[in-house]
Amino acid sequence: MSAIIIDGKARAAALRAEVAAGVADFVVAHGRAPGLTVVIVGDDPASAVYVRSKGIATEAAGMVSATHRLPAETSQAELLALVAALNADPAVDGILVQLPLPRHIDADTVIAAIDPAKDVDGFHPVNAGRLATGLPALVPCTPSGCLMMIREALGDLSGKEALVIGRSNIVGKPMAALLTAASATVTLAHSRTRDLAGHVGRAEIVVAAVGVVHLVKGDWIRPGACVIDVGMNRVALPDGKTRLTGDVDYDGALPRAGWITPVPGGVGPMTIACLLDNTLKAAKARAA
Ligand code: NAP
Repeated sequence: MSAIIIDGKARAAALRAEVAAGVADFVVAHGRAPGLTVVIVGDDPASAVYVRSKGIATEAAGMVSATHRLPAETSQAELLALVAALNADPAVDGILVQLPLPRHIDADTVIAAIDPAKDVDGFHPVNAGRLATGLPALVPCTPSGCLMMIREALGDLSGKEALVIGRSNIVGKPMAALLTAASATVTLAHSRTRDLAGHVGRAEIVVAAVGVVHLVKGDWIRPGACVIDVGMNRVALPDGKTRLTGDVDYDGALPRAGWITPVPGGVGPMTIACLLDNTLKAAKARAA
C-alpha cells in the first residue's frame, strides 16, 4: 500500500477560489474590498519572500493589499504607534506583523496590541483564549489548513487518536485545540516527551510541527495513518544548493501511511490560503 499524497497546492487553489468568490460578494454588499495590511520590520530574506507572496495572493483574491516595510532599527514604540493607526483605520480588516521581529522588539507586546478583530494570524491572546474555550475566533492559519486537510482525508474525527508533535503557540497548541474541538483524542508531544515512537505508533492522525529534519521515522507510523508534516527545514545539498524537507521521513512513511502531505507542496500553500480566508472572515465580522 502506498499513501495518498495530499495535494496542498490544489487544495489551496480551491480555497483561494472560494475566498475570491466571497470577496466579490463582499464588494457588492459593502462597496469596498476587504483589506489586509502586512508589517515587516528589518530585512530577513525569508520573511521578505513570505510577505511578497502574501501580497500577491491577497490581490489575486480581489482584496486590497498594503505592506509597511520598516527598517530594522525601528523602535518598539514606533511599531506600536503604527499598529494603533492600523487598528483605527476602517479600511484595514486584517493586520499581520511578520515574525520574527528584531531582538529589541517584544513580539508578545506587539501581538497583544493588535485589535483582536483584525488579528488574522490568530495569535492574539483573546483569539487563543476563544479557541481554547470553544468560542468563535480567528484561528492561526497553519493549523486551520491542517485541519481542513485532515477532515477531507478522514471525514468525522470523533474518537480518533491524534498526536500533535510540537507545542508552539502558532502551530502545535492551536492544532491540539482544533482537534480536541473536532472530538479527536489528542496527545500533545514536545521535546520532553518520552517514547515518541510509541505515541506515533498509536496515532491515526500525526501532525509534526517541530523543525527537526526527519524526526518521525517511517517505520513508527501506524499503518493507514493520516500524516501532516508542518516542518519546513532547509537542508544543504552536495552541489551547494538547498532544498526544503519536513519533520517526517517521507520516503519511509509513504508505504505505511494512508495519507501524507509532501514538503514542499503540502501544508505551506494552505497557510496563505487560510490567511486570505481569515481576512475575509474578519471583514465580514467587522461589517456585520
Ligand atoms: P517552534 O516554536 O520552534 O516549536 C517547536 C516545537 O517542537 C516545540 O514545542 C519543541 O518542544 C518541539 N520539539 C523540539 N524538538 C523535539 C523533539 N526532538 N521531539 C519532540 N518535540 C520536539 O516551531 P514552530 O514555529 O511551531 O514550527 C515548527 C516547524 O513548522 C518549523 O519547521 C517551521 O518552519 C514549520 N512551520 C511551517 C509552517 C507552514 O506554513 N508550512 C508554518 C509555521 C511553521 P519544547 O516546547 O519542549 O521546546
